[in-house]
Amino acid sequence: MKFKGKRAWITGASSGIGQSVARRLAQQGADVVISARRAERLHELAAELRELGVNVHVAPVDVSDRAAMEALAVTLAEQGGIDILINNAGTMPISPIINGRVDEWDQMIDVNIKGVLYAIHAVYSGMAERKQGHIINVSSIAARVTYPSAGVYAGTKHAVRAISETLRKEAIRFGVRVTDIQPGSVDTELPDSIGHDKIRGIVKSNMYGDEAAMLKPDDIANAVVYALEQPAHVDVGELLIWPTRQE
Ligand code: NDP
Repeated sequence: MKFKGKRAWITGASSGIGQSVARRLAQQGADVVISARRAERLHELAAELRELGVNVHVAPVDVSDRAAMEALAVTLAEQGGIDILINNAGTMPISPIINGRVDEWDQMIDVNIKGVLYAIHAVYSGMAERKQGHIINVSSIAARVTYPSAGVYAGTKHAVRAISETLRKEAIRFGVRVTDIQPGSVDTELPDSIGHDKIRGIVKSNMYGDEAAMLKPDDIANAVVYALEQPAHVDVGELLIWPTRQE
């Protein structure tokens, strides 16, 4: 029960990495706030997690909706605040820049950058006042390297890494820790967000083609727990996690 007495907010908890992290933290005694757009999935997860004896607050919200995120921030503060933020919601509708899929660029920037910032904004001042807290941003290996078609996605993830590094330095004086987690390919629904048919096909058959060679969401949950369970004087700034067979 490593996290009993803590309250964690996991964004993007309706599937993949977020769902796995929510389970792991609840299994270790944390009360959880689970958010995403698909409310039905959140309610199913909430029913499962409540069986563990923890409190669960379901927050169906689009992270790119600034007003909705501000309203959620007020609710969470009234409920006593958040000790741990897992800033995980993200989307990956990648395509070559020449195709000019501008709506998808906007969507990636809105969700992967602005959404991350809105969630930080929702919890950070409360953490700073209480002089404790841990913000974990899920970026990607695309925060370090990029590939053809991944330009805008990698741009958003480079931004998350830069925001994480800056926030860590700024948050030192408030006793708030910041970690940037950079997964390689994880077996989740993420490639389904690719709108470009040909690229989705290539990604699914190449990078995501060999299930056995990929990371599992639980592998990333392990990394989250590792960062969280360090003693207060240790801040794991970044964790880069490759599938062993990924180049
Ligand atoms: P999934 O597609 O399984 O999960 C994405 C989650 O983000 C879902 O819960 C989805 O919920 C939520 N989400 C998407 N858009 C929004 C939105 N506008 N508002 C609120 N929630 C939203 O993929 P993963 O679990 O793989 O992705 C989690 C994070 O990990 C992402 O940031 C991704 O970029 C990152 N990552 C993933 C890798 C991988 O290979 N899978 C590799 C490196 C990083 P809903 O649709 O219900 O809103």
